[in-house]
This record gives sequence, C-alpha cells and structure tokens, in this order.
Amino acid sequence: PGRIQAIPMAPPDKILGLTEQFNVDKNPKKTNLTVGIYKDNWGQVTTFPSVARAQTILDQSFEMNTDLSYLPIKGCPDFRENVLKFLYRDSCPEGVELLDQDRISFVQTLSGTGALAVASKFLSLFISRTVWFPDPSWPNHANVFQNNGFKNINYYTYYKEGKLDVDGWIQDLEKEARETTDEYPPCIVLHACCHNPTGLDPTLEQWRRILDKIQELKMIPIIDMAYQGLDTGDLIKDTYLLRLSLDKNRYQWPNGLFLCQSFAKNMGLYGERVGSLSVVTPSGGDVKHNVDSQLKKIVRGMYSSPPGYGSRVANIVLSTPHLKDLWFEDVKNVAQRLQSVKAKMAERLDWESLKDPSRQHGMFLYTGLNTSSVDILRERFSIYLVQDGRLSLSGLNDSNIDYVCDALRKV
Ligand code: PMP
Repeated sequence: PGRIQAIPMAPPDKILGLTEQFNVDKNPKKTNLTVGIYKDNWGQVTTFPSVARAQTILDQSFEMNTDLSYLPIKGCPDFRENVLKFLYRDSCPEGVELLDQDRISFVQTLSGTGALAVASKFLSLFISRTVWFPDPSWPNHANVFQNNGFKNINYYTYYKEGKLDVDGWIQDLEKEARETTDEYPPCIVLHACCHNPTGLDPTLEQWRRILDKIQELKMIPIIDMAYQGLDTGDLIKDTYLLRLSLDKNRYQWPNGLFLCQSFAKNMGLYGERVGSLSVVTPSGGDVKHNVDSQLKKIVRGMYSSPPGYGSRVANIVLSTPHLKDLWFEDVKNVAQRLQSVKAKMAERLDWESLKDPSRQHGMFLYTGLNTSSVDILRERFSIYLVQDGRLSLSGLNDSNIDYVCDALRKV
C-alpha cells in the first residue's frame, strides 16, 4: 500500500461541522446558534443597505462589472488605498504619520483567515516559530498557524471562572515567554475587540499593562480584528487596540506589528473573502519594500491573487461618502440588535453572564454550559451551540427566543 492508505481521519471543524449536522436535522424547531453570521430578526442573512447600493453601482458600471481579469497579486490598488485610509487615518489617527512615512506594507487578503495565513507564513519563514493565543480562542487560529510553519503553539490564561484574568495572562507571559529557549522572538495574537468566544475584552488600562509586557518581552503583536464595529456599534471606537499599540511615545515594535483585518462581519461580505494584512514596519525604505516583496511572493505561491468582486464592492462603500455614512449606520444597527437580543435573554434567564455587561462584547455569548448540556440541547431540542458553550446571538429572534430560553433553562 502507498502512504495515502495510512492517512488518519482529520477531526471535523469545531464550528462548521455542526452546521453540516444542522442542515440534515428534520426538527422544524431546529435553531442554529453556532456560526458567527449575522441574522436579522426574521432569521435572514441580509445584505447591508450600504453594500447593496454599492453592488448596484458596480452592476451599472460596464467597465468595472465586465472586468473579470486577474487582480494584481497584492490586490486592487484602489481598495488598498481606501482601506489604508480607513484603518490608519479614520480609525487610527496615529497611523497618518506611518502612511506619510510609507511604513505600512499591505496586501488584500482572503478575509481575516487569509490575512492570518499570509502573516503566519511570512513570520514562520523569516522571524518566528512560536505563537501565543488566548485560552480559549477561535479554534481555527492554531490550525492556521500550524499549517503555515509554526512549531510551538501556546496559550495564555485569558478566562477564569467567568472573568477575564489579566494577572494570569501577564504571569503566563512573564513565566514562559520570558524563559523561551527559542532564538526567535515569539508572536502573540490579540483579539482587537469582541473576543471570540468569551465576549470579554480588557479595558484600555488593562490593554496598556498587557502591551507593556509584550513590548518588554520583545514579542510580536498580531492584532486580529474580525469584529470592528460590532462591539459598540462605532467602527472607529472599536479600533482602540490598534490606536493604543501605535502610540509611538510608548511602544516600538522592532519586528513589526501585524494587523489581520476582515470585512466579513462588518460589511456582511462573508463569502466574498474581503480583508487585509498590514505590517507596520519599524522603518520605511528598504525594510518595508523587502517585506512587500516577500508578502507578494507568498501570496503568489499560495493563491496567486485575491478575488475581485467583494473588494470592488467594499472599495465603493469606502470611497463614496454617503455610502460610507450609511455603512456606519448599518454597523450601528447590527450592534444594537445584538445588544437587544442580550437584553431579551436577560429578561428570560437569571444568568450571571447576562447580568455582567463586561462579558457581552460582540456577536457571541459564552454561556458556560458544559459539553454534555450542549449535547442535550442539540439532541433533545435541536438547538445547536458550539461545543464550548458559545452561542451566536443573532440566531435568536422574536419567533425562537422563548423556545431557546425555555430549553436553556431546562438544561
Ligand atoms: N478571527 C476571529 C477571532 C474570528 O472569529 C474570525 C471569524 N470567525 C476570523 C478571524 C476570520 O474570519 P474571516 O476569514 O471570515 O474573515
């Protein structure tokens, strides 16, 4: 037999595997609260009004709409320019100087996951072999970094007994990251806001303590920003971690700062795969150009060039003032509905997690239900949560919230 006969079965994806199961469930009351896709109060995944209008503009533009040729390796130049302005000028005024100094290397990526993939490939080729994630984290983080050359996957304390444990986090870094025998500097992945799955984010003061320690230990920050705007409803406010990290009077990142950014959730462009990786280099000039060239080489070898349609739509939203305003409104509406679902749950359930607003940033509620309760919910009530007890809030609406909350009370 060949080696192919010895390949073991890979475990199903912890999140998307459940939707496969949900799809074949025959129970008319079945409810999918797994994946982080925003649904409205009618259970529909709808296009954001700003995005729909951008699509109409695109449809009517013969020139743009009939161009099915390749985008450049690093993506659409207009998209790059407008995303850079949105991230490093509108969201983060600290970035303007970096733009002026041409210190930001940028590639359009296949959404946030693609940004993480290109970043981890680049880092493992040239700078690092070790990465730290929060415990718990989005399960795909470790998968992406392992697939792209990271040898050492570590987890820092994040969550303890329903609370954020910043002291535990800092102690873990102090104890273990400091003592690393690795000759390469370690990376650390930070969720920019709306931590997935716990919904718990550090305060600004706590972030400063954490960033101080990261800097002291010469770790490389990788900011994963998949939910910008979905916390407070304000895209700009939610970018605080990037702003803090780029405070040049406090921080210097000698091996660069990496931002993996996604428009999946905040433009509803999930399947179009629209996002970016930017690398803030410590100096412009050759360093930045060399990084540019290597990112380009990685992309060329990985998928050659990114898809066109979604980035054209996003670019129209970002570059058309009235659509950009409308987009800010759309994001606010999404965040408001998420808040209102939490409030409605709190009326129905006497849960600690629902009383404590610090645990409720973003799309998910980390229920604290254990695996067997999650199994009972699925098997007896056809209510699907991720196995770790994460519940995707926008799957709840006026027609299923009583059914779901009754079942939650029972288990
Ligand atoms: N990071 C985190 C923490 C996420 O939750 C997600 C989406 N589930 C992503 C990155 C990337 O998502 P996408 O590739 O769809 O942008």
